[in-house]
Amino acid sequence: MTMNQAPIVEADGLTRHYQVGRGLFKGSSTLKALDGVSFTLTAGRTFAVVGESGCGKSTLARLLTLIEPPTAGSLRVDGIQAARPGRGERRRLRRTVQMVFQDPYGSLNPRKKVGTILEEPLVINTDRTRKQRQETSREMMALVGLRPEHYRRYPHMFSGGQRQRIAIARALMLRPRVVVADEPVSALDVSVQAQVLNLMMDLREQMNLAYVFISHDLSVVRHIADELLVMYLGRPAEQGPKEAIFTHPRHPYTQVLLAATPSVDPSRRQQRVSVKGELPSPLDPPPGCVFHRRCPFARERCAAEVPALRPVDGRGVACHFAEEM
Ligand code: SF4
Repeated sequence: MTMNQAPIVEADGLTRHYQVGRGLFKGSSTLKALDGVSFTLTAGRTFAVVGESGCGKSTLARLLTLIEPPTAGSLRVDGIQAARPGRGERRRLRRTVQMVFQDPYGSLNPRKKVGTILEEPLVINTDRTRKQRQETSREMMALVGLRPEHYRRYPHMFSGGQRQRIAIARALMLRPRVVVADEPVSALDVSVQAQVLNLMMDLREQMNLAYVFISHDLSVVRHIADELLVMYLGRPAEQGPKEAIFTHPRHPYTQVLLAATPSVDPSRRQQRVSVKGELPSPLDPPPGCVFHRRCPFARERCAAEVPALRPVDGRGVACHFAEEM
């Protein structure tokens, strides 16, 4: 099913910089929120983006959902040039790409009933009749595991997991091809997280969806991801097939994230690696490797030379000494 398909998302060198004022007489500086992210994604697969807050993953989500344009690089979604789409293209893409947010309560209007919330995208984007809209929303409710009587209830009457089911149902109402999920289970109890992740995997299969799944937590993406991108300070640190990275992470930062992931089998973990210090400001990133001030393996070269993302052991790694890791 997923073999030999044309990519649904093609991102090449996606970059988003902001000019930020530093105060009177100090001029401005460049905040490199996202720097050179490339990937392709086909239907039925999940591209997971992992890193601490401030690593650029939410910026990537905003570019993919057309909330803002990239300052450099190209983006194609479903064959459409999506970096700076025209009006018609933007309209089409609005249906093709949908988003699921972290906070299922904040993203659902508390004054509207579930049925109204689900039908809203159809009211705005289609000319379906009321009856057709109701039919579609009831079908979608069944698909995400909500009961028919939930149609007339308000969001506050549901648990966190059920609310996220409603948010997922709403995102799927226009039959998108790509779903960008930004920390979709982070606000949920651990026991509920697995249920929502399983639902998302089932829906991916049934509706042949492509996911961009954003998380700060490697254990969350472990089952759902096919490809993984680990980001640090707006830049790719390590990128490749999930199995390769989980089995043997080659970037020290990925090793740190994995070591902090309790559900990963300890016998397969790398030796415990920990970082020193705080995440530097993206307004004033360290020279050379942006990770060098926190990296336990940093050497002289690391402070002087930016490591390129290069192929090592079946994935891309931005570390001068990836072969030794
Ligand atoms: Fe650490 Fe140097 Fe590799 Fe950067 S290039 S991750 S500082 S060893």
